Amino acid sequence: LVHADHVKVYFKGKDKKSGAVRAVDDVSFDIMKGETFGVVGESGCGKSTLGRTLIKLIPATDGHIYLDGEDISGLKASALKQMRKKAQIIFQDPSACLNPRRTVRQIMMEPFEIHHMTGKMDVDARIEELLHLVGLDTYHLSRYPHELSGGQKQRIGIARALALEPELIICDEAVSALDVSVQAQVLNLLQELKERLGLTYFFISHNLNVVYQVSDRVGVMYLGKMVEIAAYDQLYAKRYHPYTEALLSAIPQVDAVDRQERIHLTGEVPSPSNPPSGCRFHIRCPKACDRCAKEVPELKEVEPGHYVACLLYD
Ligand code: SF4
Ligand code: MG
Repeated sequence: LVHADHVKVYFKGKDKKSGAVRAVDDVSFDIMKGETFGVVGESGCGKSTLGRTLIKLIPATDGHIYLDGEDISGLKASALKQMRKKAQIIFQDPSACLNPRRTVRQIMMEPFEIHHMTGKMDVDARIEELLHLVGLDTYHLSRYPHELSGGQKQRIGIARALALEPELIICDEAVSALDVSVQAQVLNLLQELKERLGLTYFFISHNLNVVYQVSDRVGVMYLGKMVEIAAYDQLYAKRYHPYTEALLSAIPQVDAVDRQERIHLTGEVPSPSNPPSGCRFHIRCPKACDRCAKEVPELKEVEPGHYVACLLYD
């Protein structure tokens, strides 16, 4: 469904001295129809920027993104609007993306108004159907966001994202702001909707447990780069990249045969405006050698479907 080809997203630095912020730096990968592609990485690694770039909320500085075979990189306003029917985003904070002065009904009308569909279909019936899909009721139509719980607000966010029958949904920390018990309910709902409506998710979270629970495949990002991509069970069985190893060693594995020691990484994530030379992870990597400071490792297939960017496997 999505093919990202050498995508770069650079932002201007704060002043002339600081270089461009390389939020996403030469990332290539595919998202298959019907899968949940999870993305993990520490905050500031470029996950959210990448998610937004996939649906052109942020334009790519370089490279191409194909959605259903169509290159969306150069799309102009009207074509972009059509594309947005296919791809939607759910944000972390449902309170921040629902207009507090509008009722649920008015909020749910928005996508139909934007796409001039209000005269062409029975929008009220469709809104009712959408509310039922996310486990809410017509009772909620006249409510304002402040009268809803966090979980209910996120359900409205999901219902609104589904209004135009998209194929791809970017979930950017979609459950991170919710209480743990509500998180599980919303994750279950997303899972149900995926199966029922044949959706594809690009699922971004800093919470490894959550990404691990929902993903068919997982991409690990470090400082603007994709350093490992594999199916969930491949990654569960073997992590090649030292960063992935450290990151995932933090997840308690109840049924793991060879339980791993937790690997503690030292040092902060360096600035994306001045990333280290060679492998960007080399200043924190427990397995770094001389080559690592000089050569940039490329993402290579180490076993079928399992990609790693590390010189150890070169
Ligand atoms: Fe570590 Fe070197 Fe591999 Fe980078 S290339 S992850 S520094 S071993
Ligand atoms: Mg983010």
